[in-house]
Amino acid sequence: MAATETSSNVAARTGAQFLEGLRNDRDREIWIGGECVTNPLDHELLRPGAEAVARVYDTQHEHAEVCLAPNPDDGKLVNRTHLIPRSREDLMKRRASMEIIAAATGGMMGRVPDYLNVTFACFSGASEVWARRGNERGAENIVNYQRLMRDLDLSTTHAIMNPVADRSKSETEQLGGEIALHKVGESSEGIIVRGARMLATLAPFSDEISIYPGSDLKPGDEAYALAFAIPMSTPGLRFICRDSFSKPKSTFDYPLSARFDEMDAVVIFDDVLVPHDRVFLDGDIVGYSEVITDSGWRGHIMHQAFTRAYVKLMFAFGLGHAMAQTTGVVRFDHIQEKLGQIWNMTELTRSALVAAEADSYLDDHGVWYPNDRPLMALRGEMPKWLPRTHELLQLIGGGSFMATPSEADFNSAIRGDIEKYFQSAGGDAEHRVRLFRLAWDFIGSDLGGRSELYERFYLSDSWRMTQLAYRTADTTFAESLVDQFMHD
Ligand SMILES: Cc1cc2nc3c(=O)[nH]c(=O)nc-3n(C[C@H](O)[C@H](O)[C@H](O)COP(=O)(O)OP(=O)(O)OC[C@H]3O[C@@H](n4cnc5c(N)ncnc54)[C@H](O)[C@@H]3O)c2cc1C
Repeated sequence: MAATETSSNVAARTGAQFLEGLRNDRDREIWIGGECVTNPLDHELLRPGAEAVARVYDTQHEHAEVCLAPNPDDGKLVNRTHLIPRSREDLMKRRASMEIIAAATGGMMGRVPDYLNVTFACFSGASEVWARRGNERGAENIVNYQRLMRDLDLSTTHAIMNPVADRSKSETEQLGGEIALHKVGESSEGIIVRGARMLATLAPFSDEISIYPGSDLKPGDEAYALAFAIPMSTPGLRFICRDSFSKPKSTFDYPLSARFDEMDAVVIFDDVLVPHDRVFLDGDIVGYSEVITDSGWRGHIMHQAFTRAYVKLMFAFGLGHAMAQTTGVVRFDHIQEKLGQIWNMTELTRSALVAAEADSYLDDHGVWYPNDRPLMALRGEMPKWLPRTHELLQLIGGGSFMATPSEADFNSAIRGDIEKYFQSAGGDAEHRVRLFRLAWDFIGSDLGGRSELYERFYLSDSWRMTQLAYRTADTTFAESLVDQFMHD
């Protein structure tokens, strides 16, 4: 914390405060490996993820001059991603802050709180979109909720997709409409919801879960048109985690898996009561689409997502560069070309972000909007680019990925052999082994495989997003170029 700051004028939490929040919240129902865990800090494989999120909270204080800014309501310092951008400078400062946070995990944790902070700041800034067709109460609720997220500096997860049961039918028709999350009742206290959603990444390390739209609905689907947020310990809320990819025993063996498994879970709503003041949308199928298309969400979320992607691409470039130097393969032309490919993707990503900020503008809601034109072009490419970096790193590293004895081997009777036979052009055996273990954890471990899948799908797939880029493209100039030669 900077010298002029006191705890009373800082709302942004520290890692210790975040962990304290988790520790005091013992009513969660998180299932992993057949065990029900009420608190992630009690579980050996979940604790490292919680500690990684705590590191993220600490990072905002270590870089307070970039990451924190006064809340316009009370002047307290909050994370910049909680603020509704009102100028180009706000966007640029927000990116600088998000870059620092992403760098703390090498971009490996896609769903650090920044993601939903940006989402809800944009939803709140465009609250009139939520208010349409008589939903003033929902709009007021979302504004109040965003203030709560900001002032308590919450860690939140979200689940916008209904589970895949049978894609030959619409989400609401799958298995008689019972699978998808829907409203089944209402009382004076709130609405009752039932069904499931996927995937709630970061769920065990979150304070709250939010539900908002991820697809379109048709007339008759009103019960499925829901948006709300509730605490993780709400009765009836059940999270079913995938296998843990966390390997906490050795940061030497698994430098990334030992720290950064952000976990993904399917969430089941077993007749969950959502209080009226936490309901943002209820029954409006038109609004269900509009709060995504008309709120500015698209540009803002890509501003966050591609800032993280930029950091992750740079990390991949750093790994490839270091591997090529270490084994000396950098002397081969095609290796340099492969490193160049990663560099090009990295630099084009940075350039798109800069262009989005340079061409940003004040939107109809009074929010400063990053121009989404360059970001839309990236949205279809990034799900291919990041997996492509995995392939390029494999091709640069070759068999060295498998010449990677463990920390236990280094501490055993064969250490002499390892030090002799695992040397490299650019360093001693330990340097080489650590580097290749790190790179393998990036591309090839359980976590590395999940990371590749994440990049392919977390912001929808490449095909549909490239199609969307075409459908939203400004074709005027292209048409005029063709048209000028169509007449004698
Ligand atoms: C690791 C990971 C973490 C995630 N974290 C989150 C999260 O935190 N919150 C959240 O809400 N979501 C999260 N997601 C889910 C993400 O929103 C979905 O994976 C994504 O929208 C794709 O949907 P799907 O997984 O159901 O795949 P599917 O839709 O089942 O897709 C399978 C295949 O079918 C194709 N396909 C499906 N429907 C169509 C269609 N209509 N037209 C053409 N092709 C189609 C897809 O392109 C794909 O090739 C995460 C996903 C992953 C993999």
